[in-house]
Amino acid sequence: MVYLSLGSNLGDRFNFLQQGIDGLRDVAVDRQIQRSKIYETEPWGNIAQPNFLNCVVEFDYRGTPEALLSEIHEIETGTGRIRGSDSTVTQWMARTLDLDILVFNDVCINSEKLTIPHKLMTQRHFVLVPLAEIAPDLIIPGYLKSVRQCVDECQDICGLKIWKQ
Ligand code: ADP
Ligand code: MG
Repeated sequence: MVYLSLGSNLGDRFNFLQQGIDGLRDVAVDRQIQRSKIYETEPWGNIAQPNFLNCVVEFDYRGTPEALLSEIHEIETGTGRIRGSDSTVTQWMARTLDLDILVFNDVCINSEKLTIPHKLMTQRHFVLVPLAEIAPDLIIPGYLKSVRQCVDECQDICGLKIWKQ
């Protein structure tokens, strides 16, 4: 099972999340995707930008993590997201769609292109709360803790409210 987080804070946010989920359906085994509720969240990090809609999805995937990363980039680009060559320029700016790989089976990777489990996931309520809905007992590889425990211990104070069931 793989777990991804989706976020949008530019334009028609719900439509962009929907486009992301539809795109992921094309790569998921049997086109089966489970999604959490959608939350509206205050921006994390660079706070001078619009609120996000966020959710988390779970699906079965047969390819490699690197292949999934290129699928993700294609889906993001399909929503009109502009990806700068210098990541520091675009990091944490408003975006039509951001797709991040949270957990990929029991894989642990720390390369230039990919860190799995996602390096900030245990610090972000907007990731942990929706993830706890669909996988409370998941043990995050390398952390030796369940998602539910991570939620309890997370110090993040960013606001989060249910936007759509
Ligand atoms: P961010 O998600 O931090 O706001 P980007 O979406 O622009 O920033 O991603 C920048 C790069 O982060 C991607 O091109 C990708 O190579 C890298 N990356 C590292 N780990 C992951 C991951 N777990 N999921 C998605 N991208 C990742
Ligand atoms: Mg990203």
